[in-house]
Amino acid sequence: MAMTILYPVGSHLYVNLTNRCPCSCTFCIRQNGDGAYGSDSLWLEHEPEMAEIRAAFSKYSLADYTEIVFCGYGEPTERLDVMLETAEYAKTLAGCPKIRLNTNGLSDKIHGVPTAERLKGLIDIVSVSLNAGTKDAYLAVTRPKWDDAFEAMQAFAVDCKQYVEKVMFTVVDVISAEEISAAQALSDSLGIPLRVRPYDS
Ligand code: SF4
Repeated sequence: MAMTILYPVGSHLYVNLTNRCPCSCTFCIRQNGDGAYGSDSLWLEHEPEMAEIRAAFSKYSLADYTEIVFCGYGEPTERLDVMLETAEYAKTLAGCPKIRLNTNGLSDKIHGVPTAERLKGLIDIVSVSLNAGTKDAYLAVTRPKWDDAFEAMQAFAVDCKQYVEKVMFTVVDVISAEEISAAQALSDSLGIPLRVRPYDS
């Protein structure tokens, strides 16, 4: 166990706030090791509080990065309050770039209320893991806690369009061409661009 709160990935600075997640994706990088992209272990000794997060930021010059990304070894919106306080804090720092949230899109289910509006003015980009183009495939790949997660994830992404500058869906390129086509059709129907990203183990 360690306390890797921030870790650079290329020109992005990733933020690791929690190891909690309501999903158990078949491709989750947490199943393959302790870190990502050469980072130290991303399993946290404890969930960092704001004082620890501020101390971690003090070691980096934000002007050196093109994005701050809430991602890490868990679902960032599990700690929605702390994530937003962190974003608010980062925006006070010199050279703060755009702030992106990489999410499974299940914040509303986690908190039991609509949450997208809370991102307004704090998160600039939301990247939602669509993972599949059909409900059956989504549930098989993502293995969420809730049977209606597929619908809830889409509703969250659509809500985000009102409050966030840029919203996108992603799938990893390990799914079949048919699934990618279905994901594209679904993304088109919701007016949200789809990014097919390479799988990083
Ligand atoms: S949503 Fe992300 S952190 Fe959670 S199991 Fe899936 S890939 Fe892993």
